[in-house]
Amino acid sequence: MKNIFLKSGLSLALIITMTVSCKKNAEKTLPDNTDLKTEKTEMNENFSCKMLGVIASGPTTEANATTRWKWPNGSTVKVRFIGGSVFVRNKVKQYAKSWEPYANITFSFVADNAAADIKVGFDEPGYWSYLGTDSKSRSKSMNYGGFDNNTFETEFRRVIVHEFGHALGLEHEQAHPDANIPWNTQAVYNYYMGAPNYWTKEEIDYNVLAVNSRTGLSYSAYDSKSIMHYPVDARFTTNNKAIATNNTTLSQGDIAFIKTYYPGRG
Ligand SMILES: [Zn+2]
Repeated sequence: MKNIFLKSGLSLALIITMTVSCKKNAEKTLPDNTDLKTEKTEMNENFSCKMLGVIASGPTTEANATTRWKWPNGSTVKVRFIGGSVFVRNKVKQYAKSWEPYANITFSFVADNAAADIKVGFDEPGYWSYLGTDSKSRSKSMNYGGFDNNTFETEFRRVIVHEFGHALGLEHEQAHPDANIPWNTQAVYNYYMGAPNYWTKEEIDYNVLAVNSRTGLSYSAYDSKSIMHYPVDARFTTNNKAIATNNTTLSQGDIAFIKTYYPGRG
């Protein structure tokens, strides 16, 4: 669940720029009461997300997160909105709270003109977030492009829980050092270079194919159920097996990890 992607060009400096942005391809997802079989068919299969930020040392994954961006345990983290309708704002508030029974962090939503640690916008393409406390210095630290009154409930849940995982300092799970995903790299490049992502090879390497070094990581076991895992379509693997294509809420692994990362609840 949380990995960091190194941006090329930042050489030997210990500071590594990293960006987490998430993008959806799909139109909409189905409401919560939809059975999983149907939901999977309708889900956005290629949800993607870029992480943005700066990291001091190696990446972290799943049950791991980089300590540099960790909030002090027990913190109340202030969140404010930049634009967005009351409807989508309420969805963000609702699903951000999914972490609170397990993480000893409280998200407090404040007025638009108040000082805040996390700043949530809706007007840029795609989904993205900075990691943890790196959010504090950003004029906007999280974005939900395309959210509106027609967005399906499952999409709200999957994306918001995922982005607030980044806001807690978590990274993408598919880059876990034990993920061992048999990528069909050409298929991955072909897909992400096209609509709606239009990523460069470098961006694909950084956001999709990167594998975290164990150095500097604290991590739990690889969790293919993690909400922080990209969906990996069968066409993207050499064994033609899909991975994590229906992760729409916190996994047991997510819960176990965040309980240890921010202990004191649950
Ligand atoms: Zn992400």
